[in-house]
Amino acid sequence: MSVPDAMPLPVAGVGVGEELKQAKEKEDAEKYSFMATVTKAPKKQIQFADDMQEFTKFPTKTGRRSLSRSISQSSTDSYSSAASYTDSSDDEVSPREKQQTNSKGSSNFCVKNIKQAEFGRREIEIAEQDMSALISLRKRAQGEKPLAGAKIVGCTHITAQTAVLIETLCALGAQCRWSACNIYSTQNEVAAALAEAGVAVFAWKGESEDDFWWCIDRCVNMDGWQANMILDDGGDLTHWVYKKYPNVFKKIRGIVEESVTGVHRLYQLSKAGKLCVPAMNVNDSVTKQKFDNLYCCRESILDGLKRTTDVMFGGKQVVVCGYGEVGKGCCAALKALGAIVYITEIDPICALQACMDGFRVVKLNEVIRQVDVVITCTGNKNVVTREHLDRMKNSCIVCNMGHSNTEIDVTSLRTPELTWERVRSQVDHVIWPDGKRVVLLAEGRLLNLSCSTVPTFVLSITATTQALALIELYNAPEGRYKQDVYLLPKKMDEYVASLHLPSFDAHLTELTDDQAKYLGLNKNGPFKPNYYRY
Ligand code: NAD
Repeated sequence: MSVPDAMPLPVAGVGVGEELKQAKEKEDAEKYSFMATVTKAPKKQIQFADDMQEFTKFPTKTGRRSLSRSISQSSTDSYSSAASYTDSSDDEVSPREKQQTNSKGSSNFCVKNIKQAEFGRREIEIAEQDMSALISLRKRAQGEKPLAGAKIVGCTHITAQTAVLIETLCALGAQCRWSACNIYSTQNEVAAALAEAGVAVFAWKGESEDDFWWCIDRCVNMDGWQANMILDDGGDLTHWVYKKYPNVFKKIRGIVEESVTGVHRLYQLSKAGKLCVPAMNVNDSVTKQKFDNLYCCRESILDGLKRTTDVMFGGKQVVVCGYGEVGKGCCAALKALGAIVYITEIDPICALQACMDGFRVVKLNEVIRQVDVVITCTGNKNVVTREHLDRMKNSCIVCNMGHSNTEIDVTSLRTPELTWERVRSQVDHVIWPDGKRVVLLAEGRLLNLSCSTVPTFVLSITATTQALALIELYNAPEGRYKQDVYLLPKKMDEYVASLHLPSFDAHLTELTDDQAKYLGLNKNGPFKPNYYRY
């Protein structure tokens, strides 16, 4: 569904008659001037930023060497897309050893097979259908490009949805060099389509750890091109730049980080006084946390479980560990299908929420013998221990929806008395000596990302947030952001949401002048104080 070109924007500059508010609006308009720019822009064909200079395709020494520190857990988590496609003609030759050029003669990329570009383009076009906010951003920025001059080095999952983000950044004027933040998650055909369109992409599905760092290195280390913005998911790219190319930070205007893990690392750097550029924590923006974590999991938990196990949920007893955003989403879906849901929580506030939502809050030990399904959503470690696994009943399904594979103690199951049987892709039966079987999904990695697809629309919200964070950091006047970690300004969170409303034909009510005065609000937002929790 398309977004109207002239939808109202938060910085349209409509005065409310009072000096104070006009001054505030002016300040906001200056602060978020890119939004106004984006609105006024005339329509034009999308054009990619100029092709970057050629560079040698062969691995550098630096790239070949692995860092002593291992890549983040999320980077090696399995991740698959239903749309992923492998050409039977794909050989086992490493993409690093192949000589490939796109139809324009550029070899400024390293992907599995450039010939898959056409198929990848179709995947991207399908994703665009549900990412109308990004398409609308492109339309709004055809005149003055808010990312003109930006040289973005990115490290994210490379899927059709992130391709829409990358191409939006290019359409907004940026040059992009991109690698994958996860060795399994790349849709090869999509990477090929990006390479064909002129994006310097270095990624393929099934990279080795050495490949992983080599790809990141190829993005950062290029003669005649130096990044001035970082978009990271997991912190590995940021870590690499810190470790290998600290001088690059002299030119970097900001880092945008999406993941819990990456944000945690940034806060650690900031605490240690080592963060030398401003960083934007996208993970904790409302439009990420309240949508990606909650709605994405509500939509995908059943999909992941059904695809792998064909389980029926009506009347099944399920225990969900953690009643945060992800837990709430999972529980809502399970309850709707008639499952009997128990919750475990360490936080009395979340526990009380679970009670008020009609769930029984229990200790895992109290229900472990009787439940049919165990789902972890805590972001913590060793939530399900070997002791719990020993006590589960036959055919109990165990899976994880948290970021890393630490929540279920899978390592404790690798003992000689237990037999592992791979019964389907991502499904293992772990068999005890007495014949009891526990059904372990995705070896304890993120279930929905490993075994199902996630809704494009939710990813659109997160991707739009990332794009706006980049625009804000890139255009911010000197001094607005110091060497610290920031949350996206509330006004931009609201803007991201407003860009997605037309998809639902939702009609916002506008405050009257009188009402705005009564509430002490600017008619154009922000509508809530920073401490509001939604
Ligand atoms: P959250 O902080 O809102 O919720 C986690 C909850 O777990 C908290 O309420 C916490 O009190 C509780 N908890 C912690 N340790 C516990 C324990 N030992 N037993 C029981 N409860 C415990 O976080 P969230 O946004 O719900 O995210 C949870 C995890 O899911 C994170 O790792 C996050 O990165 C990941 N995540 C996954 C997806 C996905 O698509 N699967 C999407 C977003 C986030």
